[in-house]
Order: sequence, then structure tokens, then C-alpha cells
Amino acid sequence: MKLLHFLLAFLMALPGMGQLNTELFNSYENYSEKSITTRRFKHDDIMAIIDKLGKDFKVNQVGTSVEGRAIKLITYGNGPINVLMWSQMHGDETTATRSIMDVFHWLEADDEFNAIRTKIKSSITWHFMPMLNPDGASRFTRRNHYGIDINRDAIHLQTPEGRTLKRVRDSLNADWGYNLHDQGRGTSVEGVRPATISLLAPAYDAKKSINEKRGDAMQLTKFMFDQITKYIPGQIGIYDDTFEPRAFGDNIQKWGTRTILIESGGYQDDWEKQYIRKLNFVMLITAAHSIATKSYEKTPVADYQKIPRNGQGRIRELIVTNVQYEGLIRDVAFDRTERDSEDYRNYYARGYITDLGDLQTSNAYFSLDAKGYDVAPGKVYEKVFNNIKELETMDATKLFSNGYTDFIVTERFDSFTISYPFNIHQEKAASNDKIQMGGNPSLLFRKDGKIKYIVANGQLHKIE
Ligand SMILES: [Zn+2]
Repeated sequence: MKLLHFLLAFLMALPGMGQLNTELFNSYENYSEKSITTRRFKHDDIMAIIDKLGKDFKVNQVGTSVEGRAIKLITYGNGPINVLMWSQMHGDETTATRSIMDVFHWLEADDEFNAIRTKIKSSITWHFMPMLNPDGASRFTRRNHYGIDINRDAIHLQTPEGRTLKRVRDSLNADWGYNLHDQGRGTSVEGVRPATISLLAPAYDAKKSINEKRGDAMQLTKFMFDQITKYIPGQIGIYDDTFEPRAFGDNIQKWGTRTILIESGGYQDDWEKQYIRKLNFVMLITAAHSIATKSYEKTPVADYQKIPRNGQGRIRELIVTNVQYEGLIRDVAFDRTERDSEDYRNYYARGYITDLGDLQTSNAYFSLDAKGYDVAPGKVYEKVFNNIKELETMDATKLFSNGYTDFIVTERFDSFTISYPFNIHQEKAASNDKIQMGGNPSLLFRKDGKIKYIVANGQLHKIE
């Protein structure tokens, strides 16, 4: 009996014997790059990490952005299968770049995953090109210095960043390609649930034909879906598969590289996409291991079609239904927009109304049914604050329970480091009490004379 217990314990302790995805998910904190915790980091930040990589990695500068920033190719392993992963060709889509830094730390660790690493190392040569658009990243914007969307430059090749990707793909004749992007938080699965992750084995022609290589990419895509679906049930969709003749993913598939797109979307209040970063970490490593062991071949190509699809309907940040106010009953949807700080490292998030009326067909991350509540505008605090630090010394809970939602702070908004729960103005608050398209009203929801909920700056707060 004792021997049997010992054997069972031994087998379960081996990651290869258990579920690799679960083991990676549970041990993620051992490997995550701790210096980056938000979406808004820069080229310098990742170069500092890449410069410290050990002897298991080869680092080569393979290109230069318009403004002179280095585009580096980092290579691990020496197997016969070339796998190329590039991220952030859109400068403000940073999730997977962070995940790649985490994967580096996992690859250079020496622990119970060694058998998995050895298999990967000997079976594939794993190439990474993180932050393909460092100029866009410096201003937290999608396009490159010239205002060109690099992902529409696969044929004309007018950007040095796009030319670099093309040259590297061609020189490796990569067997596998990973095109790593972010999508908006509004993207949905079937119009109903947030698309936390979208996946795609892009089409290489308008007919969406399936040749052997695209079939392989479909198998691996379904394999990846299976690795993370338990963490975000119902929140993975197949991205729009219309052939885009100018895009890199579609063309790289066409050029003979089995290509997979990952889009990191929205999850609950994970504004900085740190949880989605972790899911990418799990997907990238399990996918590499699957390529190394060819385990994806067990997945029928047809099973790819079982993955739900992204939908037309947008997921709103917040929907409050049955708001009885200004003589009408309306549902009100809020979204948020970000105002960049001068160095683009911080931002101030502002809520605003994006839809109102009968919203029974819409869905949101957060919601409240306001039926039976009295609705009143929030109060503007009498004192004017010189800066956000002064305001931060105040007790937010107490202010909320007294109905204060709006504050005047004379300091520039963009020097804030975080979005704040209140509605903040730089001058005397103008019409913070009207429900109108584009507006940002502060609303108190009362029952029996007591405030139960507050909406301030597009966010819902429950008052205990
Ligand atoms: Zn993108």
C-alpha cells in the first residue's frame, strides 16, 4: 500500500504526467516579469529584460524602427521546427509582449519543468520578436511613425517594421507563426459574453480554403482553446475569418507558415490585462510543447468549428436598467475612454454614456437593475483640491455614503497615476447630472431614503 501511495505521489509530482496547462497556471507567479504591471510600458523596459537573458538565448538585432529603436529576435532551442512569435505590431496592444517576457523567465528556470523544457529545446527552435512597433508603443498608439497600420503593409512593405517581419519570416521559412494582438474590451463571443481571448487560423484566400498547413493551424488552435477554456468558460471566440489581403497573418499563412492569431480582449475589471497575460503564458508554452510532441495532431481539424465565434454586439462596461429619472424610464450604458499622460505611461479613465433607451439586447461587464430605486444626481464636494494627493487622503467610502461623487481638482488630470473612483473635474463641474449620449452623470440610487448604489465616472459602487 505504502509503495503504491509513494508511486502515485511521485507520478502526480511530475508536470509531464499531470496537466501541463494547470501546472503552468498554478506556478505562473514564479516566472512572471515583475517590473511590468500595466499595459503602458516602453521599448526601454523590455530591452532591459532582454539584455539580461542568459546563455540559453541568442539575441540579434534584426531591424530598426523609423525612429531608430532596435527590433530584436530572441532565439531559444535548436530543434528542426522553426516557431516564430511576434507581438505588438500595433503599438498599444501590449499583453502578449508581457507574456513573452514571462515565457523567457520560464525557459531560463531550472525546476520541475525541466523535462518539458528539454523536449521543447530539442524539438523546436523558438524565435520571438516582441514589440515589433516600438515607435507606436512610445506614444501608446496603434500605428507606426508614418501613421501606417503595419498590419496593412504586408504587400506594399513601406514600413521598416513590416519589412523586418517579412524578412525574418522568409529567412527562417518559419513552420509556425504566432501573430499576437489585443482587441477591445467590447469584443464579444456571439454578441453575449466578453471575448477575453479570440483565436484564429487565418484564411489565405477569399474562399477560406483549408490546405494541409492551415488544417494543422486549426488543430493547434483548438488545442490552445482546450488549454484555457476552463479558466474563462464561454469567453473564447473565433475572430473574424474574412480574408484580408493586406494583413500579415493572412499572408504569412499564404506564404506557407502555419499561422495562428491570438487577440487579448477584456476580463472583468482587469483593465491592465494581467490575468489575460497569464492565460497567454499558458497558451504559448502548451502550444510550443504540443508542436514539439505533435500532440495537436490528435485533435480533429473539424473540431476547430466547435469553437464559438466572435459576435456583432459590443459588451458594455456598465448597464443600469430601468433608471427612472427626468420623467422617463431608460436603460443606460456606460463605456470608458482613456486620456494619456504626457509620457503615455499613465492615463485618466473617463466614463461616458454610449447607449440609452431599451437595452434588453445588450450585455455588459457590470450591471444593476435600478427598478424600485429613487434616482438623484450625486453631489459636488464644496472644497476645491489642489492636487490628487489631497483628495486621496479623504475617505472614499464616507464621501460616497454622504452622496459626494464629484470633486474639483485643479492639478492637470494627466498627472494621475490611476483611474480614481470619483468623477473629477478641473473647474466647476458642468452638468454632471444629465443622462445624455456622451455624458458622464453621477447618479445615486436610493431605497428607503438610503443610498444603496452609486454610479460615478461610469463605474458602479455598492454602498454597504
Ligand atoms: Zn492588433
